[in-house]
Amino acid sequence: MSAFQADSQQLILALSKGRIFEDTLPLLEAAGITVTENPETSRKLILPTNDPNVRVLIVRATDVPTYVQHGAADFGVAGKDVLLEHGGEGLYQPIDLHIAECRMSVAVRNGFDYETAVRQGARLRVATKFVETARAHFAKKGVHVDLIKLYGSMELAPLVGLSDAIVDVVSTGNTLRANDLKEVEAIMDISSRLIVNQAALKMKRERLQPILEAFERASKK
Ligand code: ADP
Ligand code: MG
Repeated sequence: MSAFQADSQQLILALSKGRIFEDTLPLLEAAGITVTENPETSRKLILPTNDPNVRVLIVRATDVPTYVQHGAADFGVAGKDVLLEHGGEGLYQPIDLHIAECRMSVAVRNGFDYETAVRQGARLRVATKFVETARAHFAKKGVHVDLIKLYGSMELAPLVGLSDAIVDVVSTGNTLRANDLKEVEAIMDISSRLIVNQAALKMKRERLQPILEAFERASKK
């Protein structure tokens, strides 16, 4: 347990800005918790709530599991995409919140014949932030790939010849279309999950349980 939380009844929730923050707000409301500052306009990284014992950490989406794993946050919300890359060590994952729903897909440039390339056993260059998921997917298909790790703007890679394909999360496909790319294979459905630090689950069960139950009720729509 970190010094930050020592001897404290404080509950710390880790969230990322954007879609996950916005989709988590109604779930927090269902648990009687209102975040009293907006992360889009505030420069604060620790946001207060109407409950003096509950605070929200604003971190990068990929860092949420790390904060929760190490107990710097008691609980958090993270996409399945991020959790698969992280591995889930030290995390209890009780609830699929059905928020930030999208899918993990393979996409290529319009005009690139993915099916033929795969059938002919071509070695594919695949750019992605999700190397573990991509590795597992192509291994299962028996397709040889060279994985190129990127941290953002994956859509650019096929356009400039960095890769033949990308593995990325897609919802409407608008970003792909705007960049002359097409989705050629869906890998898995993605949604965000509640994650809880395993020690916090035992030590702070009384405080956490009502919130987890409210989240579960509010997310079953
Ligand atoms: P970052 O830009 O830091 O990678 P995002 O805010 O784009 O983070 O995504 C955070 C999480 O939201 C992802 O881990 C994923 O689970 C989900 N997500 C990303 N893109 C979409 C989308 N287009 N539609 C729905 N959910 C998405
Ligand atoms: Mg993004």
